[in-house]
Amino acid sequence: MTLPWHIEALNPPFGDPGFFLLHSYSGQGLLLDLGDLHKLSAKQILKVSHIFISHGHIDHLIGFDLLLRMTLNHAKHLHLYGPPGIIKIVEHKLQGYCWNLTAHHELLITAHEIHEKSIEQCTFACRHKFHPEPGISMTRKSSAICENPTFTMASTTVDHGIDCLAFALKEPLQIKIRPQELNRRGWPPGPWLSQVQQHLQSQSPAETIIEIAGHSYQLQEIADAITQIRPGLKIAYVTDTGFTPENRQRLLPLIDGADILLCEAAFLESTADKAEISKHLTAAQAGQLAHQANAKELRLFHFSPRHSDEKEEFYRQAGEHFNGPIS
Ligand SMILES: [Zn+2]
Ligand SMILES: [Zn+2]
Repeated sequence: MTLPWHIEALNPPFGDPGFFLLHSYSGQGLLLDLGDLHKLSAKQILKVSHIFISHGHIDHLIGFDLLLRMTLNHAKHLHLYGPPGIIKIVEHKLQGYCWNLTAHHELLITAHEIHEKSIEQCTFACRHKFHPEPGISMTRKSSAICENPTFTMASTTVDHGIDCLAFALKEPLQIKIRPQELNRRGWPPGPWLSQVQQHLQSQSPAETIIEIAGHSYQLQEIADAITQIRPGLKIAYVTDTGFTPENRQRLLPLIDGADILLCEAAFLESTADKAEISKHLTAAQAGQLAHQANAKELRLFHFSPRHSDEKEEFYRQAGEHFNGPIS
């Protein structure tokens, strides 16, 4: 199956963590963490609109400057999401440069700080020398932190000594209309088709009535007759997480049923003590998480360089707990 999202690791598994995701149909690009970005092309970086930062450790943020450098001359609005403290981090990074010649540049950066019960927002405009504009606070009612037509991003906070965000991207339901079935029933295309799609996306009751050419039909009847529906793809991202019962309890509902689980595996069994101290996962624990979450596929990253000559061992140890494909 061709995936609607192209997923590319920013670096080989022993390098800085992070992934570039590109939506094939809309061309929209996302970043999961901001490790060293030098392997991405300028074209790829310019497609990025949303950046999701797990936490403020340098290996997850060092790519910020290159992202800024590449997008500076472009009329873009970057949305960056991160844990408590991310607004200050972004402000400090931006104020680390002089901006006397950029008054006509249109780049905007909005930092969204994810708290348990609220999302704090602050925008930095290049034309205002990236001084922070007055902040906005919004109540957070669910795990969702960002919703747009191509995806919804949800997150939960885990303990890594500091707050660290795990993310799950979910596509909306993929609804295809079958034109031959429309013809067969003599239903003329019209605005009712988008009503049907909207009702299906928002999971309206099956008995919802839709009018087609002066006749009333139930939503379910129309859906069965003329649509082909598949659940949207789910891509989960877990990094820098201690394998504690509390963290697993928070992670599992978020990553449950992921089609692709992108999961850190910093250590091997021989250094499990180091994983525990530094609040990271071992490869075996990543495999257990994938198994417990009923993930369909596991992709490992963020291997500790101390194991640089044992690369295959990461996949083998994860595979002792997870039967699906591992790469
Ligand atoms: Zn970290
Ligand atoms: Zn890290």
